[in-house]
Amino acid sequence: MDTNDPVREARLLVEWLRGAAGRYAWSDETDASAPRAPTPAGRPTAAGAGGAAGTTRAPVGAGIGGAAPTAPVPAAAAERDAAAPPGATTPSGGPDPFDALRADADQCRRCRLCETRSTVVFGEGPRRPRLLVVGEAPGADEDATGRPFVGKAGQLLTKMLAAIGLAREDVYIANVLKCRPPDNRPPEPDEVAACRPFLDEQIRLLDPELVLALGNPAAKALLGTDRGITSIRGQLRTLADGRRVLPSFHPSYLLRTPEAKRESWLDLQLVARTLGLSLPSRPSADERDE
Ligand code: SF4
Repeated sequence: MDTNDPVREARLLVEWLRGAAGRYAWSDETDASAPRAPTPAGRPTAAGAGGAAGTTRAPVGAGIGGAAPTAPVPAAAAERDAAAPPGATTPSGGPDPFDALRADADQCRRCRLCETRSTVVFGEGPRRPRLLVVGEAPGADEDATGRPFVGKAGQLLTKMLAAIGLAREDVYIANVLKCRPPDNRPPEPDEVAACRPFLDEQIRLLDPELVLALGNPAAKALLGTDRGITSIRGQLRTLADGRRVLPSFHPSYLLRTPEAKRESWLDLQLVARTLGLSLPSRPSADERDE
């Protein structure tokens, strides 16, 4: 389907703004029973919540600072790792570098947030995602479950992805900070600096085609800019290493500012065009009644 069809785009925009009860429309209301969007053809699907691999790649490095973790992985991480497929090791039999990175994060005490967190929220999704979504930091729901974007903002993110035909499981989802700031306060610069190497390694190992940076902290961390998200959203950037980054509004902001959905929808369409995705067709009446 042609994503440049103005009539079609206008219709989808109207549906988007309405938040109508269509399969790919979204509103601020939680709809946990919404059916999954189709998986784009030719892409490996995600595995478990802990980022268990559908595919693994050749070893490209160890954890932060090159140091392999030595302490045991906490119970929550061990539970997530149980979903990993057999053979998640390097060809030489060593630990998979991504697993090593996650184990390193699970034990991390590099900033003060380790004192107040319940769980390290490393991220989840497939090991070879076309799209990496990066948010700000875990909130209360994420801290309790160890999974990113599972609260109300996360449910909206799932609907936003579905609007361009992506299932949540097709995308890797992470945050700049892996631990929750107390009372959901904004990240401190030294916390971002301490945690940044984890994100850098995630990006390097996941090697996504596009990074969607949601909100100010993510855009600032990834683009090295002090400009606000309102002025830079929707501007596709190519970093020195060739990585493409698109800044956009955080779903939490969209929940507070519904009128910003118009810009958000434009950004999502740019994601679809950048990845060569076809926008899903409008669901039939029968589909809506499913
Ligand atoms: S926020 Fe990042 S740097 Fe700070 S303790 Fe958690 S994992 Fe470590």
